[in-house]
Amino acid sequence: MSLYLTNTLSGKKELFKPLGDPVKIYICGMTVQGPPHFGHMRAYITSDILIRYLQFSGYKTKVVQNFTDIDDKVIEKAQEQKIDYRVIAQKNIDEYFEVADKMNIKRADIYPKATQHIQEIIELVQKLIDKGFAYESDGDVYFSVNNFKDYGKLSKKKLEDLIAGARVEIREHKKNPADFALWKAAKKDEPYWQSPWSNGRPGWAIECSAMSICHLGETLDFHLGGEDLVFPHHENEIAQSEAATGKEFVRFWIHNAMLNLTGEKMSKSTKHFITAKELLSKYSANVIRLYFLKSHYRSPQEFDFSILDSSKEGWARIEEFLYAVEENHAKANPKSEALNPKLVEAMDDDLNTPKVIALVFDAIKDGFNALQNKNSEEINNKYNEVLFYLSNLGFRTDIKYRTEKRISMSGGTTASSSIEYRDVTKFVNAQELAKTKGHYNIANLIEASINIIDMNMLIPIIRSIARDLAREKKEFEISDLLRKGLEEMGFTLEDTDKGTRIKRKK
Ligand SMILES: [Zn+2]
Repeated sequence: MSLYLTNTLSGKKELFKPLGDPVKIYICGMTVQGPPHFGHMRAYITSDILIRYLQFSGYKTKVVQNFTDIDDKVIEKAQEQKIDYRVIAQKNIDEYFEVADKMNIKRADIYPKATQHIQEIIELVQKLIDKGFAYESDGDVYFSVNNFKDYGKLSKKKLEDLIAGARVEIREHKKNPADFALWKAAKKDEPYWQSPWSNGRPGWAIECSAMSICHLGETLDFHLGGEDLVFPHHENEIAQSEAATGKEFVRFWIHNAMLNLTGEKMSKSTKHFITAKELLSKYSANVIRLYFLKSHYRSPQEFDFSILDSSKEGWARIEEFLYAVEENHAKANPKSEALNPKLVEAMDDDLNTPKVIALVFDAIKDGFNALQNKNSEEINNKYNEVLFYLSNLGFRTDIKYRTEKRISMSGGTTASSSIEYRDVTKFVNAQELAKTKGHYNIANLIEASINIIDMNMLIPIIRSIARDLAREKKEFEISDLLRKGLEEMGFTLEDTDKGTRIKRKK
C-alpha cells in the first residue's frame, strides 16, 4: 500500500510512513454535556475507516480517544439541570458507547477522561510556565501566543487577525487578547481541583495535550477530529505540546468536514442536531454507514432524510442481492486476495470510500445479471466481492445480524416514517395478490410478503386487510378505527375497483 492522506497542516496529500510500531492515533472525543449527535458519528466513522484500513494493510495500531468530562459546557448543563456534572458526563458516555457499538465502530484501546488526568495536566502547565510559554494571572494560567512562533500554522490564521478578533471576558487579565486559558480558577459553586495557582479546572485544549503525551508519547502518527476543531482546539494543542516538548507533536492532522442541516453546521451550539440514538431508531447502522461513506470524508455533506432514504434504498438493494444468492447456498469467502488491488487503489487515494461503494454496486449489477443467466461461478465471485468490500468498510454483513435486524424491525409501528416508496408499492402488489387468491389468510399473506424488503410494512398491510374484512362484515366502527390508526402511522387508504390501496402520505 502507498497511502496518501490529506494533511491539514500542509493542505496536501502526503504519503503515510509510520513513525514506529504501533501506529499511534489520537482522536478528539466528545465533550459530554449532551448525547452523541449525528455529526459526531461522521467523525468517528472517519476514524474507524482509517483504523480499519491501516489494520487491513498490516499495521498494528494504538488508539486513544478521550472524553472531555469537565469544561464550561458540562458545568453549565449540570447547573441548569441541578445534577452533579459527573452524572451528566457518565450518562452521555454510556450513550456514546451504546451508539458506537451499534454503529460497528471499533473500540479504541484507551478512553481517558480529563478528570482522570488532572495531575498530568498540572505538570504540563507548570512546565509551560517554567519554560516561559505561560503565565499566571489572578489564579488563571494563560498560554502566551507571542512566545510560540508557529502559532496559527495549522489553521493558517495570522496572529494580528486573532488579536483584533479576540473577545476578552472582563475578569480575564491577559497580556495578549489572543492568549488562551490553560487553567481556570473556579467560580462560586463550580467543581475544582487544587493547583499551585488556584482551586480550579483545566482549560479545554490542555487535556488533549496531556492525555496524548501520557498514553502515546510526544509525537503521534495521527490526530483526528472534526474540521470545527482545527481552531482553536487543535491549534492550541500544537502550541502547548510543541512548546513543552520541543518536538513535532503530530505527523498527520486528519479532519472530516461538517454535516449541513438546512445549511448550518450540525453541532450542539446551534441546537440543530439530531441525536445518533434517534437516528438509529429509524435507520439501521448499515444504512447510516452507507450514507456517510457515499461522501468523501473531506467533503461537506448535506443532512436530509430524503438522502438517508436513498441510502436505505441502496442498502435494500445490497440485501436483496445477498439474500438472493444465499438462497442458492453461495459460499462466503470474502478474503479473496484477488480483490485487494481494487480496494487498495481506492483507499490509498485519501480513503476514497465513494469509489469503493461504487465498486459494491457495480458488483451487484453484475451479480444480478449472473443470477439471471444462472452463471454460478460468476454469482459466487460477485457475492464474495460485495462481502469483501462491505466488511472492509465496517458494514455488518453476517446473515445472522441481517436476519435479526429484519425480524426486530417488524415489531415497531413508530418507524413508519422511514418506509420507502418502493416497499409501499411492493406491499400494494402483495395485498392485491393476497386478495386475488380469494380470501385473506395468513398463508396468502406470507406468500405475498416473501419479496418485501421493509418489514415495517407488515403491520400497516395487516391493518389494511383487517379493515377490508371489517367492511365486508359491515363493522364500520372497527373499519374506521383501523383507517384512523393507519393515518396516524403516516398512510392514506384509497378505495379503488381492485380493492383498497395503501399509500404513504406525502
Ligand atoms: Zn481534543
